[in-house]
Amino acid sequence: MLQKEPFIVRVAVPSPLRRTFDYRVPEHLVSDAGIGALKPGCRVAVDFGRRNVVGLVLDLGSNSELALEKLKPITAIIDSTPLLPPPLFKLFIWAANYYQYPIGEALFTALPVLLRKGKLPPAQTALHWTLSELGYGLGPDSLNRAPKQKALIKLIQNHSGALAESEILALFSRSIINQLQQKALIKSVEIKPVEDSPTDDILKQASLTLDKQQQAALDSIDLHSFNCYLLDGVTSSGKTEIYLQSIEKTLRYGRQSIVLIPEISLTPQTEKRFRDRFNVPVVTLHSGLTDKQRLKAWEQARLGQAKIILGTRSAIFTPLKKPGLIVLDEEHDQSYKQQEGFRYSARDLAVIRGQQENIPVILGSATPSLESLNNCAQGRYVHLLLNSRAGNAVAPDWNLVDLRSESVECGIAGSTLEAIGRTLKAQQQVLVFLNRRGFAPALLCHFCGWTAQCTDCDTKLTVHRARGRLICHHCDYQQRQPNRCPQCKSQQLMATGDGTERSEDYLQKHFPQHRVIRVDRDSTRKKGAMQQFFDTADSGKPCILIGTQMLAKGHHFANVTLVAILDADSGLLSADFRGHERMGQLLTQVAGRSGRGEVPGQVLVQTHQPQHPLLDMLISQDYRYTAKQLLAQRKNLQLPPFKAMALLRAESTRAQQAHEFLCMARSVAEQLIVAYNGVELLGPLPALMEKRAGRYRYIVQIEAENRAALQELLRALASQLDTQKKFSGVRWSLDVDPQEL
Ligand code: ADP
Ligand code: ZN
Ligand code: ZN
Repeated sequence: MLQKEPFIVRVAVPSPLRRTFDYRVPEHLVSDAGIGALKPGCRVAVDFGRRNVVGLVLDLGSNSELALEKLKPITAIIDSTPLLPPPLFKLFIWAANYYQYPIGEALFTALPVLLRKGKLPPAQTALHWTLSELGYGLGPDSLNRAPKQKALIKLIQNHSGALAESEILALFSRSIINQLQQKALIKSVEIKPVEDSPTDDILKQASLTLDKQQQAALDSIDLHSFNCYLLDGVTSSGKTEIYLQSIEKTLRYGRQSIVLIPEISLTPQTEKRFRDRFNVPVVTLHSGLTDKQRLKAWEQARLGQAKIILGTRSAIFTPLKKPGLIVLDEEHDQSYKQQEGFRYSARDLAVIRGQQENIPVILGSATPSLESLNNCAQGRYVHLLLNSRAGNAVAPDWNLVDLRSESVECGIAGSTLEAIGRTLKAQQQVLVFLNRRGFAPALLCHFCGWTAQCTDCDTKLTVHRARGRLICHHCDYQQRQPNRCPQCKSQQLMATGDGTERSEDYLQKHFPQHRVIRVDRDSTRKKGAMQQFFDTADSGKPCILIGTQMLAKGHHFANVTLVAILDADSGLLSADFRGHERMGQLLTQVAGRSGRGEVPGQVLVQTHQPQHPLLDMLISQDYRYTAKQLLAQRKNLQLPPFKAMALLRAESTRAQQAHEFLCMARSVAEQLIVAYNGVELLGPLPALMEKRAGRYRYIVQIEAENRAALQELLRALASQLDTQKKFSGVRWSLDVDPQEL
């Protein structure tokens, strides 16, 4: 029970300070709302510095490190019941600790904006009309001259005397309601929607009959307690069908499911499959929502009205009244890790949340991350395998195109062009993959060798010919495409290299009778462009789809039978230790778009390095084999997941300042690590892109054999760095389990 006096609350406020603040609850507030009402997870208003801000109560108690007289009073209690259910609240605290991020900021970045501002959740009642006593007493022959009014009275009667206004307005005009109200035959009341209990018609569409492997996988999933399952199924093996059937079972015992996918706008087909299958309320949470829409969806999930919550990364923080299942599709996808601010991994938090809520977590992918595969090998996750494609589809056939012995135009080899022609002629579709948008990745002066560079980043500007501009793909700096070389005034400027725009032009000229549709961030800027793309692909008519990795995202086009990967070499050179893993995933995912229907598919991989071991493994074996080899390499080199890693990042407009900050930080860390075994420091090193958007970026890499030791060290380091005042121009942050260097 709570103490009577003094009454103190520990509050998280949105502030970059890594701590919480104690406040006193003044007596008049205690008596107004009752002490019992104030619980962890309720919002309060407090004076903080010179502002009055919204804070979240973390704890209640009767003592504080500060003297009672020094504590400020809270100024208002906003919620009478906790906004966040306790397990979710615990998840935030866990995440803030693990990712070394201030708890107040963590909590507030994940709340809908309107709640952050102190607004109350929208009322969840709906206006209903009921019969008055007079209305109930109406004789059978009254209102004969007002047939509409009579019909409405009858309708309300048939609905046990109360009907939602929205339902009435679907059939009657507002004036009929008004007329009955004036006659005092009906009156309005606010009614909470009843939570519907599971019924037999949960399904709008029958589920498919699973094949043997699918059935075995589904049967292995225990829906009544926590476990993490890695559903490792080749592309088009029917993973989504397993998600759907797991959700169906979860619905049948009255529980909600969260489904996370990398990007909703790119995969409307996925959303459609969930909505088409079930007869229950589905809400989607993504960046395209207005603040109001977001709050409404969030609230529907919190109150248990929405049964399926489909969302991107941050949807992992959606409160659920009756949590039952978490599904995370394409678990290898990088978008699950937030790359700035609160740098959490939604995939890893999904597992923690599952544990805390005691519900199962299904991670699915055709190309699982090495982390998850290692977790299976260690017995932490249950490994479920689907080895063949669902239905009649078979795995596509891979072939290398050796660019050294071919003539190449606009990125396309002669033999690839012939294969494209043959496919179109056979009335099938082609998908061409090139992970470089724009017309050409560089503008070069043929006369003096000048190239157009971004002034703010370490990178070349990309030529966007259709728009007549040079654009930096890292900071979005733009300029008009010059006619003359700014260095020697020559007019011999050449756009060198190939981007999707150039290859599109070339293919369209070569196959004028067929549609060529480009999909990249430029082409999809226009509203409806993505829809047009899907419509064309779904029509099944022969065409060429050309694009960047946007094309690799889980799409299902039944009539694509040829996939051409124009440049496999770019990924082979990566300096990041995850480079080969990423490359293997990307190529396998793109290739997986081929031959998903009746006709077997083919994949052509263009390369200058046909002997490269990575390509060889992927083609002569498969992703699973390749991943095993890569994991063995990581073990030999003692890299993640065999070590815990964190980065201390620092950036500044002045290179020297950022560097000096990290030298200081490193010496602080060196003193701290004496207390731990097996912690190593590396750096300061330049980040992979040293200069971006006008800021110079450096890192210190911290590796540890033991995760707990790393956590302790980082906490101590952060609190010491927080007190450094000398480096005001430096922004620094900690990145735990970094995904890019
Ligand atoms: P994945 O999610 O593994 O890429 P999908 O679930 O999208 O695979 O399945 C690929 C295709 O196979 C879809 O068109 C789907 O409807 C179909 N499919 C899945 N399972 C079955 C099954 N058991 N029987 C027949 N078709 C299936
Ligand atoms: Zn020049
Ligand atoms: Zn730039």
